Amino acid sequence: MTLRVGVVGTGAIGKTHIHRLSYTLSGAEVVAVNDADEAQAQMAVDSEQIDAKVYKTGQELINATDVDAILVASWGPTHEEFVLASIAAGKPVFCEKPLATTAEGCRRIVDAEIAHGKKLVQVGFMRRYDQGYRALKQTIKQDTIGAPLMLHCAHRNPAAPGFSGDMAITDSIVHELDVLRWLLDEDYVSAQVILPKSTRLADQGLQDPHIILLATTQGIRIDIESFVNCKYGYDIQCQVVGETGTANLPEPASVTLRSEAKFSRGILTDWKDRFVDAFNTEFQEWIDSTLNGEMHGPSAWDGYVVAVSSDACVQAKREGRIVPIEIPERPPFYRP
Ligand code: NAP
Repeated sequence: MTLRVGVVGTGAIGKTHIHRLSYTLSGAEVVAVNDADEAQAQMAVDSEQIDAKVYKTGQELINATDVDAILVASWGPTHEEFVLASIAAGKPVFCEKPLATTAEGCRRIVDAEIAHGKKLVQVGFMRRYDQGYRALKQTIKQDTIGAPLMLHCAHRNPAAPGFSGDMAITDSIVHELDVLRWLLDEDYVSAQVILPKSTRLADQGLQDPHIILLATTQGIRIDIESFVNCKYGYDIQCQVVGETGTANLPEPASVTLRSEAKFSRGILTDWKDRFVDAFNTEFQEWIDSTLNGEMHGPSAWDGYVVAVSSDACVQAKREGRIVPIEIPERPPFYRP
Protein backbone atom coordinates (compact mmCIF):
# COMPACT_ATOMS: atom_id res chain seq x y z
CA MET A 1 0.00 0.00 0.00
CA THR A 2 1.19 3.53 -0.76
CA LEU A 3 0.48 6.59 1.37
CA ARG A 4 -0.71 9.40 -0.90
CA VAL A 5 0.68 12.60 0.59
CA GLY A 6 -0.32 16.22 -0.05
CA VAL A 7 2.39 18.81 0.73
CA VAL A 8 1.43 22.34 1.80
CA GLY A 9 4.40 24.68 1.44
CA THR A 10 7.08 24.11 -1.20
CA GLY A 11 9.78 26.39 0.21
CA ALA A 12 13.23 25.26 1.35
CA ILE A 13 12.27 22.36 3.59
CA GLY A 14 9.06 21.47 1.71
CA LYS A 15 11.14 20.74 -1.40
CA THR A 16 13.63 18.54 0.46
CA HIS A 17 10.74 16.60 2.04
CA ILE A 18 9.09 16.12 -1.38
CA HIS A 19 12.38 14.74 -2.65
CA ARG A 20 12.87 12.32 0.26
CA LEU A 21 9.24 11.09 0.08
CA SER A 22 9.51 10.60 -3.67
CA TYR A 23 13.01 9.14 -4.06
CA THR A 24 14.73 8.26 -0.77
CA LEU A 25 12.04 6.52 1.26
CA SER A 26 9.51 3.81 0.54
CA GLY A 27 5.75 3.58 0.95
CA ALA A 28 4.75 7.14 0.05
CA GLU A 29 3.96 9.17 -3.03
CA VAL A 30 3.46 12.95 -3.26
CA VAL A 31 0.20 13.37 -5.18
CA ALA A 32 -0.66 17.00 -4.37
CA VAL A 33 1.18 20.22 -3.60
CA ASN A 34 0.23 23.76 -2.68
CA ASP A 35 2.10 26.96 -1.94
CA ALA A 36 1.09 30.60 -1.45
CA ASP A 37 3.10 31.08 -4.64
CA GLU A 38 1.42 28.75 -7.16
CA ALA A 39 4.34 29.06 -9.62
CA GLN A 40 6.72 27.85 -6.93
CA ALA A 41 4.51 24.81 -6.26
CA GLN A 42 4.50 24.03 -9.98
CA MET A 43 8.28 24.44 -10.06
CA ALA A 44 8.63 21.90 -7.23
CA VAL A 45 6.53 19.41 -9.22
CA ASP A 46 8.55 20.01 -12.38
CA SER A 47 12.00 19.96 -10.80
CA GLU A 48 11.26 16.82 -8.79
CA GLN A 49 9.57 15.23 -11.83
CA ILE A 50 6.61 13.96 -9.82
CA ASP A 51 3.06 13.35 -10.91
CA ALA A 52 1.34 15.69 -8.45
CA LYS A 53 -1.58 18.08 -8.83
CA VAL A 54 -1.06 21.73 -7.83
CA TYR A 55 -3.89 23.05 -5.65
CA LYS A 56 -4.78 26.73 -5.31
CA THR A 57 -5.28 26.54 -1.54
CA GLY A 58 -4.12 24.35 1.30
CA GLN A 59 -7.75 23.74 2.27
CA GLU A 60 -8.60 22.29 -1.16
CA LEU A 61 -5.55 20.04 -1.01
CA ILE A 62 -6.46 18.78 2.47
CA ASN A 63 -10.00 17.92 1.35
CA ALA A 64 -8.96 16.24 -1.91
CA THR A 65 -10.26 12.67 -1.95
CA ASP A 66 -7.04 11.17 -3.32
CA VAL A 67 -4.92 12.70 -0.51
CA ASP A 68 -4.51 10.27 2.43
CA ALA A 69 -2.18 12.35 4.62
CA ILE A 70 -0.92 15.92 4.81
CA LEU A 71 2.59 17.31 5.24
CA VAL A 72 2.57 20.93 6.43
CA ALA A 73 5.85 22.70 5.55
CA SER A 74 4.54 26.20 4.99
CA TRP A 75 5.37 29.37 6.91
CA GLY A 76 4.93 28.88 10.69
CA PRO A 77 1.93 31.22 11.20
CA THR A 78 -0.13 29.10 8.75
CA HIS A 79 0.46 25.78 10.55
CA GLU A 80 -2.45 25.98 13.01
CA GLU A 81 -5.01 26.57 10.26
CA PHE A 82 -3.76 23.64 8.15
CA VAL A 83 -3.41 21.21 11.05
CA LEU A 84 -6.92 22.03 12.31
CA ALA A 85 -8.30 21.55 8.78
CA SER A 86 -6.54 18.16 8.54
CA ILE A 87 -8.05 17.05 11.85
CA ALA A 88 -11.48 18.25 10.67
CA ALA A 89 -10.99 16.13 7.53
CA GLY A 90 -9.97 13.17 9.73
CA LYS A 91 -6.57 12.89 7.98
CA PRO A 92 -3.13 12.20 9.50
CA VAL A 93 -0.95 15.32 9.40
CA PHE A 94 2.79 15.76 9.78
CA CYS A 95 3.50 19.38 10.75
CA GLU A 96 6.96 20.90 10.62
CA LYS A 97 7.80 22.83 13.77
CA PRO A 98 6.29 24.97 15.18
CA LEU A 99 2.94 23.23 15.61
CA ALA A 100 1.51 26.75 16.00
CA THR A 101 3.19 30.05 16.77
CA THR A 102 1.50 30.43 20.18
CA ALA A 103 0.89 28.04 23.06
CA GLU A 104 -2.84 28.90 22.78
CA GLY A 105 -2.80 27.86 19.12
CA CYS A 106 -1.12 24.55 20.04
CA ARG A 107 -3.73 24.02 22.76
CA ARG A 108 -6.53 24.50 20.20
CA ILE A 109 -4.95 21.74 18.12
CA VAL A 110 -4.64 19.48 21.18
CA ASP A 111 -8.32 20.08 22.05
CA ALA A 112 -9.44 19.44 18.45
CA GLU A 113 -7.48 16.19 18.28
CA ILE A 114 -8.87 14.96 21.60
CA ALA A 115 -12.39 15.86 20.42
CA HIS A 116 -11.74 13.92 17.20
CA GLY A 117 -10.84 10.93 19.38
CA LYS A 118 -7.85 9.51 17.44
CA LYS A 119 -4.25 10.69 17.18
CA LEU A 120 -3.61 12.28 13.80
CA VAL A 121 -0.88 14.85 14.43
CA GLN A 122 2.89 14.44 14.41
CA VAL A 123 5.27 17.39 14.90
CA GLY A 124 8.61 17.64 13.06
CA PHE A 125 10.99 17.39 15.99
CA MET A 126 13.50 15.28 14.09
CA ARG A 127 16.28 15.18 16.69
CA ARG A 128 14.45 12.32 18.44
CA TYR A 129 15.29 10.25 15.34
CA ASP A 130 19.02 11.07 15.35
CA GLN A 131 21.10 7.97 16.09
CA GLY A 132 23.33 9.95 18.46
CA TYR A 133 20.45 11.24 20.59
CA ARG A 134 18.86 7.77 20.55
CA ALA A 135 22.15 6.24 21.81
CA LEU A 136 22.39 8.91 24.51
CA LYS A 137 18.83 8.16 25.66
CA GLN A 138 19.64 4.44 25.76
CA THR A 139 22.75 5.18 27.87
CA ILE A 140 20.64 7.11 30.38
CA LYS A 141 17.94 4.43 30.43
CA GLN A 142 20.48 1.66 31.09
CA ASP A 143 21.69 3.59 34.15
CA THR A 144 25.27 3.52 32.83
CA ILE A 145 26.11 6.93 34.35
CA GLY A 146 23.67 6.88 37.26
CA ALA A 147 20.85 9.37 37.54
CA PRO A 148 21.33 12.50 35.39
CA LEU A 149 22.06 15.63 37.46
CA MET A 150 23.09 18.26 34.90
CA LEU A 151 23.10 18.77 31.13
CA HIS A 152 25.51 21.07 29.28
CA CYS A 153 24.30 21.77 25.75
CA ALA A 154 25.22 24.00 22.83
CA HIS A 155 23.36 24.93 19.67
CA ARG A 156 25.69 26.73 17.26
CA ASN A 157 24.95 27.82 13.69
CA PRO A 158 27.51 29.45 11.42
CA ALA A 159 25.02 32.24 10.64
CA ALA A 160 21.34 32.98 11.00
CA PRO A 161 20.15 34.89 7.93
CA GLY A 162 16.67 36.32 8.44
CA PHE A 163 16.72 35.91 12.22
CA SER A 164 15.18 38.74 14.19
CA GLY A 165 13.91 39.35 17.73
CA ASP A 166 13.69 36.14 19.71
CA MET A 167 14.02 33.69 16.81
CA ALA A 168 17.14 32.09 18.31
CA ILE A 169 14.73 30.76 20.94
CA THR A 170 11.51 30.33 18.98
CA ASP A 171 13.12 28.89 15.85
CA SER A 172 16.21 26.99 17.06
CA ILE A 173 16.06 26.37 20.80
CA VAL A 174 12.65 24.73 20.38
CA HIS A 175 14.56 21.69 19.07
CA GLU A 176 16.59 21.57 22.31
CA LEU A 177 13.42 22.06 24.37
CA ASP A 178 11.84 19.05 22.70
CA VAL A 179 14.76 16.67 22.57
CA LEU A 180 15.99 17.30 26.13
CA ARG A 181 12.61 16.63 27.77
CA TRP A 182 12.35 13.50 25.59
CA LEU A 183 15.87 12.47 26.65
CA LEU A 184 15.11 12.88 30.35
CA ASP A 185 11.39 12.01 30.32
CA GLU A 186 10.77 15.14 32.40
CA ASP A 187 9.21 18.53 31.86
CA TYR A 188 10.67 21.90 32.80
CA VAL A 189 9.62 23.97 35.78
CA SER A 190 11.56 27.19 35.20
CA ALA A 191 13.57 29.16 32.66
CA GLN A 192 16.15 31.89 32.90
CA VAL A 193 18.00 33.56 30.03
CA ILE A 194 21.40 35.18 30.44
CA LEU A 195 22.70 37.56 27.81
CA PRO A 196 26.49 37.44 27.45
CA LYS A 197 28.51 40.04 25.55
CA SER A 198 27.04 40.01 22.04
CA THR A 199 29.12 39.12 18.98
CA ARG A 200 29.84 41.93 16.51
CA LEU A 201 29.16 39.43 13.72
CA ALA A 202 25.39 39.13 14.29
CA ASP A 203 22.92 41.26 12.33
CA GLN A 204 22.64 44.75 13.77
CA GLY A 205 20.70 44.92 17.02
CA LEU A 206 20.47 41.15 17.40
CA GLN A 207 21.52 39.64 20.72
CA ASP A 208 23.75 36.59 20.16
CA PRO A 209 24.68 34.39 22.03
CA HIS A 210 22.16 33.49 24.75
CA ILE A 211 22.55 31.15 27.70
CA ILE A 212 19.30 29.40 28.62
CA LEU A 213 19.05 27.84 32.07
CA LEU A 214 16.29 25.32 32.72
CA ALA A 215 15.25 23.30 35.75
CA THR A 216 13.23 20.09 35.44
CA THR A 217 10.57 18.62 37.72
CA GLN A 218 13.19 16.39 39.45
CA GLY A 219 15.66 19.26 39.84
CA ILE A 220 17.99 18.45 36.92
CA ARG A 221 19.70 21.66 35.78
CA ILE A 222 20.28 22.32 32.08
CA ASP A 223 22.38 25.03 30.48
CA ILE A 224 22.08 25.61 26.74
CA GLU A 225 24.37 27.94 24.86
CA SER A 226 22.60 29.29 21.80
CA PHE A 227 25.11 30.91 19.42
CA VAL A 228 23.62 31.32 15.96
CA ASN A 229 26.43 33.36 14.38
CA CYS A 230 29.40 31.28 15.58
CA LYS A 231 30.85 31.32 12.03
CA TYR A 232 32.86 28.09 12.26
CA GLY A 233 30.17 25.43 11.74
CA TYR A 234 26.85 23.82 12.66
CA ASP A 235 27.73 22.27 15.97
CA ILE A 236 25.28 20.58 18.34
CA GLN A 237 26.61 19.47 21.70
CA CYS A 238 25.01 17.71 24.63
CA GLN A 239 26.72 16.33 27.70
CA VAL A 240 24.76 14.54 30.41
CA VAL A 241 26.43 14.53 33.83
CA GLY A 242 25.20 11.65 35.97
CA GLU A 243 25.96 10.44 39.48
CA THR A 244 28.78 8.12 38.33
CA GLY A 245 29.84 9.37 34.90
CA THR A 246 29.18 11.59 31.93
CA ALA A 247 27.78 10.81 28.49
CA ASN A 248 28.28 12.93 25.38
CA LEU A 249 26.24 13.17 22.21
CA PRO A 250 28.45 11.46 19.58
CA GLU A 251 30.12 13.67 16.99
CA PRO A 252 28.98 13.05 13.40
CA ALA A 253 31.33 10.64 11.62
CA SER A 254 34.14 12.34 9.72
CA VAL A 255 37.58 11.45 8.45
CA THR A 256 40.43 12.36 10.79
CA LEU A 257 43.42 13.89 9.04
CA ARG A 258 47.10 13.97 9.80
CA SER A 259 48.40 16.41 7.27
CA GLU A 260 50.61 19.52 7.03
CA ALA A 261 51.69 19.18 10.64
CA LYS A 262 48.08 19.11 11.85
CA PHE A 263 45.77 16.48 13.31
CA SER A 264 42.22 17.52 12.37
CA ARG A 265 38.68 16.54 11.48
CA GLY A 266 35.93 18.45 9.71
CA ILE A 267 32.90 20.10 11.25
CA LEU A 268 29.62 20.20 9.31
CA THR A 269 28.27 23.61 8.40
CA ASP A 270 24.68 22.85 7.34
CA TRP A 271 21.86 21.56 9.58
CA LYS A 272 20.45 19.62 6.61
CA ASP A 273 23.63 17.53 6.48
CA ARG A 274 23.84 17.12 10.25
CA PHE A 275 20.31 15.75 10.50
CA VAL A 276 19.73 14.17 7.06
CA ASP A 277 19.56 10.64 8.48
CA ALA A 278 17.29 11.81 11.30
CA PHE A 279 14.87 13.38 8.77
CA ASN A 280 14.86 10.19 6.72
CA THR A 281 14.19 7.97 9.74
CA GLU A 282 11.54 10.39 11.01
CA PHE A 283 9.61 10.26 7.73
CA GLN A 284 10.05 6.53 7.14
CA GLU A 285 8.64 5.83 10.60
CA TRP A 286 5.81 8.32 9.98
CA ILE A 287 4.93 6.65 6.66
CA ASP A 288 5.04 3.15 8.17
CA SER A 289 2.99 4.00 11.25
CA THR A 290 0.47 6.07 9.27
CA LEU A 291 -0.07 3.17 6.86
CA ASN A 292 -0.74 1.04 9.96
CA GLY A 293 -3.29 3.58 11.20
CA GLU A 294 -1.03 4.56 14.13
CA MET A 295 0.83 7.68 15.26
CA HIS A 296 3.98 7.24 17.39
CA GLY A 297 6.10 10.37 16.87
CA PRO A 298 6.22 13.70 18.71
CA SER A 299 2.58 14.52 19.39
CA ALA A 300 0.47 17.65 19.42
CA TRP A 301 0.92 17.55 23.21
CA ASP A 302 4.71 17.67 22.74
CA GLY A 303 4.26 20.62 20.37
CA TYR A 304 2.13 22.36 23.01
CA VAL A 305 4.59 21.73 25.88
CA VAL A 306 7.48 23.05 23.79
CA ALA A 307 5.46 26.18 22.95
CA VAL A 308 4.69 26.82 26.65
CA SER A 309 8.37 26.30 27.53
CA SER A 310 9.59 28.48 24.66
CA ASP A 311 7.17 31.28 25.66
CA ALA A 312 8.63 31.13 29.18
CA CYS A 313 12.18 31.45 27.79
CA VAL A 314 11.17 34.50 25.74
CA GLN A 315 9.49 36.05 28.79
CA ALA A 316 12.56 35.28 30.95
CA LYS A 317 14.77 36.99 28.39
CA ARG A 318 12.58 40.09 28.15
CA GLU A 319 12.01 40.46 31.89
CA GLY A 320 15.50 39.40 33.02
CA ARG A 321 14.17 37.01 35.66
CA ILE A 322 13.53 33.35 36.36
CA VAL A 323 10.12 32.49 34.93
CA PRO A 324 8.14 29.47 36.17
CA ILE A 325 7.01 27.01 33.51
CA GLU A 326 3.57 25.69 34.29
CA ILE A 327 2.63 22.67 32.21
CA PRO A 328 -0.93 21.45 32.76
CA GLU A 329 -1.40 17.77 33.53
CA ARG A 330 -0.96 15.59 30.45
CA PRO A 331 -4.42 14.48 29.25
CA PRO A 332 -4.96 10.67 29.35
CA PHE A 333 -5.31 10.80 25.53
CA TYR A 334 -1.57 11.54 25.27
CA ARG A 335 -0.30 9.17 27.96
CA PRO A 336 1.89 6.32 26.74
P1 NAP B 1 10.35 28.88 3.46
O1 NAP B 1 11.49 28.54 2.57
O2 NAP B 1 10.04 30.31 3.70
O3 NAP B 1 9.07 28.13 2.92
C1 NAP B 1 7.79 28.35 3.42
C2 NAP B 1 6.84 28.27 2.25
O4 NAP B 1 5.50 28.38 2.74
C3 NAP B 1 7.05 29.40 1.24
O5 NAP B 1 7.16 28.87 -0.06
C4 NAP B 1 5.78 30.23 1.41
O6 NAP B 1 5.38 30.88 0.22
C5 NAP B 1 4.78 29.16 1.79
N1 NAP B 1 3.55 29.69 2.37
C6 NAP B 1 3.38 30.81 3.12
N2 NAP B 1 2.07 30.98 3.42
C7 NAP B 1 1.41 29.93 2.84
C8 NAP B 1 0.04 29.57 2.75
N3 NAP B 1 -0.93 30.28 3.35
N4 NAP B 1 -0.28 28.45 2.06
C9 NAP B 1 0.68 27.70 1.47
N5 NAP B 1 1.99 28.02 1.48
C10 NAP B 1 2.37 29.12 2.17
O7 NAP B 1 10.58 28.25 4.90
P2 NAP B 1 11.25 26.83 5.27
O8 NAP B 1 12.64 27.06 5.71
O9 NAP B 1 10.94 25.84 4.22
O10 NAP B 1 10.42 26.49 6.61
C11 NAP B 1 9.08 26.03 6.56
C12 NAP B 1 8.70 25.48 7.95
O11 NAP B 1 9.59 24.41 8.27
C13 NAP B 1 8.87 26.51 9.07
O12 NAP B 1 7.83 26.37 9.99
C14 NAP B 1 10.21 26.15 9.70
O13 NAP B 1 10.29 26.48 11.07
C15 NAP B 1 10.23 24.64 9.52
N6 NAP B 1 11.60 24.12 9.44
C16 NAP B 1 11.92 23.08 10.23
C17 NAP B 1 13.21 22.60 10.24
C18 NAP B 1 13.60 21.46 11.12
O14 NAP B 1 14.77 21.39 11.50
N7 NAP B 1 12.71 20.57 11.45
C19 NAP B 1 14.18 23.18 9.43
C20 NAP B 1 13.80 24.23 8.59
C21 NAP B 1 12.51 24.69 8.61
P3 NAP B 1 5.91 32.40 -0.05
O15 NAP B 1 7.40 32.31 -0.07
O16 NAP B 1 5.31 32.75 -1.34
O17 NAP B 1 5.41 33.21 1.12
